[in-house]
Amino acid sequence: MRTEDCRAALERIRWPDGPVCPHCGASGRAVTEIGGTSHRPGLYLCSECRKQFTVTVGTPLEGSKLPLAAWLQAAHMLNTLRNPVTVREIERELGVTYKTAWHMVQKLLKAVENYRGPLPLFGETVQAHIEPFLPKHRNSRASWARRKAKKAAGTYKAPRVPVATGALSELQFTPPATNAHVERTERFLHWVLSH
Ligand SMILES: [Zn+2]
Repeated sequence: MRTEDCRAALERIRWPDGPVCPHCGASGRAVTEIGGTSHRPGLYLCSECRKQFTVTVGTPLEGSKLPLAAWLQAAHMLNTLRNPVTVREIERELGVTYKTAWHMVQKLLKAVENYRGPLPLFGETVQAHIEPFLPKHRNSRASWARRKAKKAAGTYKAPRVPVATGALSELQFTPPATNAHVERTERFLHWVLSH
């Protein structure tokens, strides 16, 4: 997978309506891509706050020296339905050290620990992994009462379900994936990039 394609896919997932400044929230004409060979590709400048950013700024992928393709592939493997995908397999597939693979998995799973949407959105593998992270008794009477109170007060927000847009459809994953698998990976990445 080429880095440009991975970046374009992540941008489409994170910013379906065009880039949004992660520092101040400005978008539209306030944001321009900085072109030229002296700049990193995918670098944007916000005219509101005068700060620069890329699609990974403010996400768990920020500051990573790993290629974007490695992150996409790791996310893809975590979303297979085969249970369980191991850190070893990710290590082998990406050609990174075990420690690196482990850290990637931790970062990705930490990012989806607050997922509260209807299950199963992600692969069973991820569900099994995130179960220990989830607050205990989240379907308890107390949490049900809280939800009921919020509904009565008009402050209840239903869990947002990321919509798959086909942003990853151009990418070649290993092993080749079904459409359903690619969509799961996209929703997963959507969650990772926006939380
Ligand atoms: Zn800004």
